[in-house]
Amino acid sequence: MSLLDKKLAALESIREKKAVLLYQALKVSTYEDMLRFFPFRYEDRTRFYTVKEIGDGMPFVQVKGKLGGVEVMQQGRKKVLVSTLRDATGSVGLVWFNGVEWLRKTLLPNQPYILWGKPSRYQKKMVIAHPSLQPSWTVGGTVKAGHLQPVYSTTQLLTKGGLHSSGIARIQQRLLAIVGGGIEETLPQEVMTEYGLVDRRSAFEGIHFPKDHACLKQAQYRFKFEEVFYLQLRIRERHSLLVAKKKGMVFDDVTLLNRCYAMLPFTLTGAQKRAIKAMYVDMKQGRMNRLLQGDVGCGKTIVAFMGMLLPIAHGAQVALMAPTEILAQQHYEAIQHYATRLGIIVGLLTGSTPQTERKKLQHGLLAGKVDVLVGTHALLEEGVQFKQLGLIVIDEQHRFGVVQRAKLQQKKGSLPPHIVVMTATPIPRTLAMTLYSHLEVTMIDEMPPDRLPVKTYHAYDKDRLRVLGFMRKQMAAGRQVYVVYPRIDYTGNDQYKDVMDGYESMRRAFPNVACGILHGRMKPADKAYEMARFAKGATGIMVCSTVIEVGVNVPNATVMIIENAENFGLAQLHQLRGRIVRGKHQPYCILMTKKDLSSSTQKRINTMVATSDGFEIANIDLELRGPGNMAGVAQSGMESGLVDFVKDHQLIREATHAVKKLLSKDPELRSSENQPVQKHLVRLNEHGKNMLKIS
Ligand code: ADP
Ligand code: MG
Repeated sequence: MSLLDKKLAALESIREKKAVLLYQALKVSTYEDMLRFFPFRYEDRTRFYTVKEIGDGMPFVQVKGKLGGVEVMQQGRKKVLVSTLRDATGSVGLVWFNGVEWLRKTLLPNQPYILWGKPSRYQKKMVIAHPSLQPSWTVGGTVKAGHLQPVYSTTQLLTKGGLHSSGIARIQQRLLAIVGGGIEETLPQEVMTEYGLVDRRSAFEGIHFPKDHACLKQAQYRFKFEEVFYLQLRIRERHSLLVAKKKGMVFDDVTLLNRCYAMLPFTLTGAQKRAIKAMYVDMKQGRMNRLLQGDVGCGKTIVAFMGMLLPIAHGAQVALMAPTEILAQQHYEAIQHYATRLGIIVGLLTGSTPQTERKKLQHGLLAGKVDVLVGTHALLEEGVQFKQLGLIVIDEQHRFGVVQRAKLQQKKGSLPPHIVVMTATPIPRTLAMTLYSHLEVTMIDEMPPDRLPVKTYHAYDKDRLRVLGFMRKQMAAGRQVYVVYPRIDYTGNDQYKDVMDGYESMRRAFPNVACGILHGRMKPADKAYEMARFAKGATGIMVCSTVIEVGVNVPNATVMIIENAENFGLAQLHQLRGRIVRGKHQPYCILMTKKDLSSSTQKRINTMVATSDGFEIANIDLELRGPGNMAGVAQSGMESGLVDFVKDHQLIREATHAVKKLLSKDPELRSSENQPVQKHLVRLNEHGKNMLKIS
């Protein structure tokens, strides 16, 4: 066990009560947890002021001088302690209201002190209340220009328990003294040298007690680098089976592709053409690990389908994996539409495919009679064997099922299949760089020309009648409506509306309109039935949970009401809204919220109202939430909070590069110099598990 993993409660000088308090308030339990609780700002002690220079309204100042007489005075029923600090330019009054007796005993009149405090004017005189005084003889013979003092954020719980920022600083100081030599390096020496990083121990010292600004910067840089480095490694660990290292099959027969192109009912956008071209070039060279990234509605399905036609022309097979049954069904139908005309056999395999059908499919796959298999995770079952799997297309939208992907690739086949991952969540470039650095990224950054930009409004409960009126008008004009709820049924929380309740109130409000219902706990067959009815127009309103957020495509449904929109994240709202931007009619989205919103919620709603640009939304989301939550990457709990995934792109590039280089030399991290890396990865994973238990 590393010294850093020791429990804080084991630290001699820390009382058990404080250890408990720290755990309750900050979830800090080990030495390392504590040391990773970084200051949130620093007080500049690099400069000294003279008494004459200080004035009312100045921030904290540092003054050198001699302490005058120390007196206790009675102020009403309270005792106060007063004194002065004198230098060559004058003297300033000092006053303390707390800890009077103790201070009186410890402060030594006529001795030199370094004062740190905030000046203010009291009855025309300058006074400093509650200054902190450090005897200058403890600082060393000649007083050096001091350093940046750490300020830690404290919670009410902590201050009530007597732990202020300075108390935390003392614990940190003590910890550093104890663990000093026991802070093991987590980065390989070569990486540290190449990027000029300070060692881990100096970084801990530098971040808590920086000598100067440069020292602080170096420490922060080191921790940010470490964080991105390990984020990368952990992602790659999970993706490692995905990436084909060997050369794969070569597919360059474009006959099917050309035939399909000729029968498209629309013109491909430039971005779609570029994406298809990129896949063609990849497969012609026998190597493809590509990420197709494009906002909802940009038309990724047809791009993926046209990519499939290359392997199929060579007699190879394709697997298309979707995150939900509804989506698999939709992909199946969309593809079937073109496939039948091209003589391509498509199969659908989901959890609810009956056993006999399943058997038939499995035979067809082994015999090479089924060209494309569309499905959910059911594709990963034991019995599913392809004759020759040439391409795997994974539609992850914004769910990440990395582990499962790896399994699919291990299916029989002489050469590793090509991989295309489609994702709808626009990821800011910097983050894409981090998360998908092992894939080639193609952005489909253009919408089909027939799309009308969605109009989004924010409404409150009091506007409900108007909202209902609006729905009525839209339905009279032939449109269909989604009403989305954050909860499926009543959870005992009156704040949130739920699907069941919503269904009843919609039926009451629109007795003449057929209502559908859709949520995640319904049986797959029922979901498919409801979806089909809505797609046909047999139902006018679909009351639903977020199951529709992923990929559902009903072009005539152009109105969406989102209840308790304050309860959804930005990315989710954007995904949901993407469902209605598909047809020729003007789409409308209404975000219903409660009255008082927090500032970050208000920002989310305002963003949704102001823009439908997925990348802009993603950037704001990143700002508001941080990268861990966004990308579906399990957090280790060791995130520093220092990395700014938008501004730190240079650093992210460097750390990414370092990981690439490391893995290209030692992909399994076997070498002795990479043992610290291996060890730290294990620690992070362990820590991540413990975090989950806590929260
Ligand atoms: P997403 O990228 O969100 O998966 P889809 O592939 O589901 O989007 O496409 C959304 C809709 O746009 C589909 O109905 C599809 O037929 C249509 N579409 C795709 N490409 C074009 C295009 N170039 N012009 C017009 N419509 C298109
Ligand atoms: Mg899609």
